[in-house]
Amino acid sequence: MIILTLFILILTAFFIFLTIKTIEVNKGREKADDAYKATEIVKFEDNSTVQKISIMPLIDSESINDNLKTENGVSYLISADDKNILLDLGFNRAKKHPSPLLENMKALGKSFEDINYIVFSHAHLDHLGGMNEQKTKSFSISQSIVETPKIPIYTPVKIQASAFNPQLDEIIVSEKPSIIEPGIYTIGNIPRHLFIMGYVEEQALALRLAGKGIVLIVGCGHQTIQRIIERTKQLFDENIYAVFGGLHLPILKKGKISLLSVVQYIVGSDYAPWNGLSEKDVFDAIESIKNENIQLVGLSPHDSSEWSIKQFKKAFGDKYVDIKVGKEITL
Ligand SMILES: [Zn+2]
Ligand SMILES: [Zn+2]
Repeated sequence: MIILTLFILILTAFFIFLTIKTIEVNKGREKADDAYKATEIVKFEDNSTVQKISIMPLIDSESINDNLKTENGVSYLISADDKNILLDLGFNRAKKHPSPLLENMKALGKSFEDINYIVFSHAHLDHLGGMNEQKTKSFSISQSIVETPKIPIYTPVKIQASAFNPQLDEIIVSEKPSIIEPGIYTIGNIPRHLFIMGYVEEQALALRLAGKGIVLIVGCGHQTIQRIIERTKQLFDENIYAVFGGLHLPILKKGKISLLSVVQYIVGSDYAPWNGLSEKDVFDAIESIKNENIQLVGLSPHDSSEWSIKQFKKAFGDKYVDIKVGKEITL
């Protein structure tokens, strides 16, 4: 009798939780849609270009060899002519010092001395350098003091440096699309409400590559590729030439299903897990990229499953570029 009562209580509590969650998600989704539609977007007047771009993944979940650390987060070093931008700071889930990011930078001969800007795509743990960082709305390069020059930080929401890197106090909240340097831009915040993680504002980087078009570099892709493309077309006259980074497609299908994919599937999508991301989302993403005749595509393995990456490879053939730590992409 006690067991039965307990069972009914747990079941009732579970249903109450689901009902509250569903109402919250629907409201959040509406709020995100309204905010997106209400954002007034003005085309950039600046027509500057960069002549060459290199993207070096410093953190992602795959690497070119075992000497380089992998983890389920993002940090990409983007060089555009003589400017170097670090997009995100990885996860450092094990709270190590030196962090996987610092270890990989050392192995690849990269230094904070050469970095002109740090840009955060969004304030999630796998991009801010840790779980505690997400909780405290801060960011860390590693879990101990790291000396760096003063580097301006672009972020979609207000965050602050942790006690490990207090010198990084020049915080620019880049809610709206803005010019970081001539030819280098953020497309501004695009919000989304996720089932577990709640409301999130995310920005992506856009670079205007001379003679080619716009190169987009995305962190987690919570915005959806459809909205990223729509926003980019509102900001620039040029075609989109390339898209690299996370597009959040952790579809649970055949093949290697990592624990990460399961977690990303449950917590990082705006669907309820029982009505989760499906194959259709992957095919819709592929179609929207194909519609723009984008010439190069690379999907971050940190938030997409092996199955999704396989579909992209199949769809884009030699236009597909692997994203792996240590593998430089040059344009
Ligand atoms: Zn995220
Ligand atoms: Zn992510």
